Parts: sequence; structure tokens; C-alpha cells
Amino acid sequence: MSKPQKGRSHESADILIVNAEELLTLAGSSQTPRKGKEMRDLGIIRDGALAIRAGKIVAVGKTHDITKTFRSEYILSAKGKTVLPGFVDPHTHLVFAGSREDEFQMKVEGATFNELLDSGGSALKTAKETRNARVEKLVDLGLERLDTMMAHGTTTIEAKSGYGLTADDELKILGVTKRLNRLHCVGVVSTYMGAHVVPIDYRNSVDEYAKLIIEEGIPRVADSGLAEFCDVFCERGIFNLEQSKRILLAAKKHGLKPKMHADFLCAFGGAEVAAAVGAISADHLNYASSTGIKAMAEKGVLAVLLPAATFSQMMNKYADARLMIDSGVAVALASGFNSSLWLPNQQLSIAMACHFMRLIPAEAITAATINAAHAVCRANEIGSLEVGKQANVIVLGAPNHKFLGYSVGVNLVEKVICGGRLTLDREKQDEPVLLSKTE
Ligand SMILES: [Zn+2]
Repeated sequence: MSKPQKGRSHESADILIVNAEELLTLAGSSQTPRKGKEMRDLGIIRDGALAIRAGKIVAVGKTHDITKTFRSEYILSAKGKTVLPGFVDPHTHLVFAGSREDEFQMKVEGATFNELLDSGGSALKTAKETRNARVEKLVDLGLERLDTMMAHGTTTIEAKSGYGLTADDELKILGVTKRLNRLHCVGVVSTYMGAHVVPIDYRNSVDEYAKLIIEEGIPRVADSGLAEFCDVFCERGIFNLEQSKRILLAAKKHGLKPKMHADFLCAFGGAEVAAAVGAISADHLNYASSTGIKAMAEKGVLAVLLPAATFSQMMNKYADARLMIDSGVAVALASGFNSSLWLPNQQLSIAMACHFMRLIPAEAITAATINAAHAVCRANEIGSLEVGKQANVIVLGAPNHKFLGYSVGVNLVEKVICGGRLTLDREKQDEPVLLSKTE
């Protein structure tokens, strides 16, 4: 940071970022997400600058123009660096207790998804541990995870419940989610997902469990005001098309916006149902049919793709993002963070989308910012660097945006500004301690 510039008719700003090699605005898509070729357009300003006041962006432009108008005690130089909106992660299962590294090893040794489920592992193990966990413990765990996400550049996430399964336990998780949103600078958007897995007691009567969600879960969650969306894991052996549809239509009736896990592990017709119920997004879509993709494009359903989930399932079939983009579906990217996928990092989602789905870096960045903001219905507030939006801004230690995707396994994020506050500054952290050899 350098000293303020003196000037006579300057407006004041809390923070000025200046001299960005590339400043990616992603401007002009707050009303509708970017589709097709638009996804390649990052709205780049070279030698870009940004003024922040009272948590909001008050000016964006060339450094020369912004410094003519604004002054600030805090001027961050982004010389040689890339500045962009904080990442939005529109699909996580944030709140749970325990971990599943043993199961990970079983997976490495060849166990399938359904075998893990049958062994009593999988999400059901996490559900048990989460039900037994105290609220304070879940809050602490959630805060730690949000810290890690923020350190990798994420400033807003969506968080699904679904490790409680009974209405009481789901409400407990949603209550934790609300507290996390209040306590942490990372914004947390809440989704009710009682239909995440089928509890063991209902393995042979999934209809009964779906009924319970419709008659008890959804009305109680809607009354509590603790969730904005409702999600269903629509998949063979979990919730079928009919049950998924019933649940999402009931959710809609109670004012919860529908989302759907669709066509992840096999071609199941999930994308078609997502279009039929008017879901905000259909997520995963590895096996979505071309008819389903077409229906999604027609109904404006966003595709939230989770390459990291595919990677962690050790599947070879990634979602056909190129077909989706060519078909006019707006594509967003998410980490899918959950108890079996410890990946709280949207930079890695971008890298995987480039490597495995053949998105170019610009498309993947669009998918992890403005389109992801659309997937959580927040595009009027976040997802781009435009006047009036929340000042969620990240500074990368890279001279251009293509380093996202190209650079794998390295955290490029040097600074995070969350809601107008500098919440992470790696340059201010102590230098790593190098062990010197003793003679
Ligand atoms: Zn999920």
C-alpha cells in the first residue's frame, strides 16, 4: 500500500485497487447468465482500477481515470497481477461432522458408490455423526471450512443441508448455516436437501420417505425461513424421477426454489425433469441426454457442473460442457465440497473444467463467477465487478487470467476483499520458515 494521492476534487474511497494487468469485470450479465460465445468474454480492462466504499464497488475503469477521481488511504497496487470477482461456489454440502478418509481408501481399492452405501458408509455415516454433533461444534467446523474456501478466493457459497435427514436434524443444520452466514464474511446461501440420501429405515419404502419430506420437511423448513432452495438427489437407487418431481413441485408451492442433482452416475432423465419443474439449476449432468440439455436450454435451467465430483468418483465420463454451451445452456462450476470430497477450492474446479471438459480458462472463469452467481440467484449483488455490487474482489499473483486452469495445485490468490474489507493478504503473512542446514 502506498500513501494517498493528494488532489482537490477527489471523491473518497475506502480501498483503491490500481494498475491491474488485467481486471476482469464480467460486466453486463446481471440479468441473464452468459451463454455460448458470451462465456469467453471476461470484460477485461488492462491497467484496470477499482474503487470501493462502504462495502460496495463505486467505480471501475482504467487506472488513469479512477485515480483522477478517487483518493484513498488504502491503495493496493495490482501491478503484474489479475483482479477479478470473488469466486461463487454454487454447490457445496458445507455442514457436517466427521470425515471419510477410510472410505476414500476403499474407493481407491475399487469399491463402487452403491457398495459404499450398502456398507453403511457414505453419506449415512456422516449423517449419524452430524446428528450426534453439538451445534457449536458444527458452527466451528463450518467456520474453518469457510476460512479455507476464502483463502482460495471464494467469497460466496451455496450450502445444502442433507446430513440430518429427520426434519429436526435438517433444521439444526439449516440453523447452523444461517449462523455461518452471519458470522463469516463469505456469504452462505442456504438449500434444504432432506432428499440427499435415503435413510436406512426407508431403503425399501422410498415413497414413504419422499412423503415425509413433502408433508413434514418442506413445510417446516419453509415456515422457518431457513432455506431459499430445495434440492433432490435424483439418481437410480436414490430418488427416482417421479419422487424427485413430487418433492420439487411441493417445494415450489412452499416458496422454495428447486435445484436438482441430475444424471450424475447414469443416464436417468434428470435433466428433463429439471426442465419440467423449472429448476434454477440441474447439477452434475455427466450423463444428461441431448434431449435433456435441449429442454434445459429452452427453460433457462443453468447447468452447475462439478468436475471435482467426477474426479473424486474416479469416473471417466465428465459432463459434456461443450455440448451444453453450444446448445445455449448457461454453465456454472462448483466444487461440490462434501464429506467425501474434501475440495474447497474453485481454482481447482476451473483447472479440471479446462483439462477434462475442454472449457477455455475464460469460459471456466465465467462459470465460477457471474454464472455461478445466477445459479444462486444473487447475480444482482455479486459475480462481477460493477458499480453498485458488493465489493467481493480477489487479486491473483498472475499476470493474466489464463493462469487459472493452467496453474494446478497452486493457490494463486494473494488478496481477498470480502464485502469491502481486506480479509486476506498473503503478502502480509510471515515468510515461510526455511530450515537451514546445520554445519
Ligand atoms: Zn451435491
